[in-house]
Amino acid sequence: MSRVRLQELKNRSIRAMGKVHKAVKEKILDVQRQAYDEGIQMQISSGFRSFEEQAQLYGKGRPSYKWHGKHYGSSGKIVTNAEPGESVHNYGFAVDFFLTSYDGQDSIWNVNDDWMRVVELAKHKGFTWGGDWTSFPDRPHLQLTGSLTWKDLQKGKRPSKSLLEVDVPVPDDGILEEGETGYQIKKLQQMLIKLGYALPKYGADGDFGEKTLNALKAFQKDHHLEVDGVAGPKTRDALEEALSLKPPKPEDKNYWYIYTGPFENHQDAQAAIKKIKKYKGWILDINHENRVMTGHFIGKNVVEFYAEWLRNEFGWTVYVSDHKPVKEEDEMPEVAVVINSAADYGVGEMLANRLETGVYTRYVAKKVQVADHLYVVGGDKEGLKAGKITLLSGKSRLKTASEVDDYLEKHYN
Ligand SMILES: [Zn+2]
Repeated sequence: MSRVRLQELKNRSIRAMGKVHKAVKEKILDVQRQAYDEGIQMQISSGFRSFEEQAQLYGKGRPSYKWHGKHYGSSGKIVTNAEPGESVHNYGFAVDFFLTSYDGQDSIWNVNDDWMRVVELAKHKGFTWGGDWTSFPDRPHLQLTGSLTWKDLQKGKRPSKSLLEVDVPVPDDGILEEGETGYQIKKLQQMLIKLGYALPKYGADGDFGEKTLNALKAFQKDHHLEVDGVAGPKTRDALEEALSLKPPKPEDKNYWYIYTGPFENHQDAQAAIKKIKKYKGWILDINHENRVMTGHFIGKNVVEFYAEWLRNEFGWTVYVSDHKPVKEEDEMPEVAVVINSAADYGVGEMLANRLETGVYTRYVAKKVQVADHLYVVGGDKEGLKAGKITLLSGKSRLKTASEVDDYLEKHYN
């Protein structure tokens, strides 16, 4: 069973949240990415809801319900007490989330530690959690409204600019110190551990306490920095340098490759390459699935080292392979069958089945080269793109299954 890709969770969530405010979207996707980095699969189940959709929802379990003269009632259980305009969802400032199983196939609605971690990450970004409401706790619900309620939104008030600012990373002032918690602290702890400054008691728990303080001071002492136990720009640079300058010595002599993504489209993949090139002079390429591939590394431990770096730095799905990236031209099959008319399809398909390849129409085979060697059922060579062409027309035209078998017996291995 493999882990559901972050991109997959992201795609599902974007679809489900619809036209929420840009800041809500950016921030919650960032929470999703951070959670994923920590081994938590989080997905959004809903976001923006139009007034009409709210009317439909409110109408459930209230069969005679009408809104603006239109009938929206339906049978079933009552699911909400909010009429159109009475939900923060109607203004695009709320989302609901849930967790998924490791493979992304099942949904999980238990309010467990992972759930609370997502809540913590979201609060860090300025979200308010519906689970904190005393009258009707709503545990999947997160809203980005500050102190505003739906009543304020209905009156035309909107959340503050600073709350909706997405370009500025919210709580990070560039300095990490004792008493702080969150993702950045967790990342700092992971770096310290990786560099040999163990945190055996609590591990990388995202909480900057005495153990983290001591480990950080030890690092600063070893690297001739001011030993103040505060991770400011100089210390953080030194940490990153210490990490990125220390790839292990290769333990084997095999070639390895890194694949990241797939990205949503070619442009996103190109943007990813740009980002990587800011740090590393790797030879990078994009394959047909919009995955970014690196040039080769020698040694599995070395490639793992860099893969981990990519995961930490960018939060992408990254994996390693000992298979050389396949370019599209390498994937072209050796043989293919081309048919001249629909009447040839039956025989063409039989032939293709036996040759374990596909059937193409003449039209397609003229536009692109579909294989190196074409078996052409009916017609001539005119305009076909191929290295080699075998014409099965006129006298050699195949008409039945047994003729196909006889032909292959004689001419094909
Ligand atoms: Zn909600």
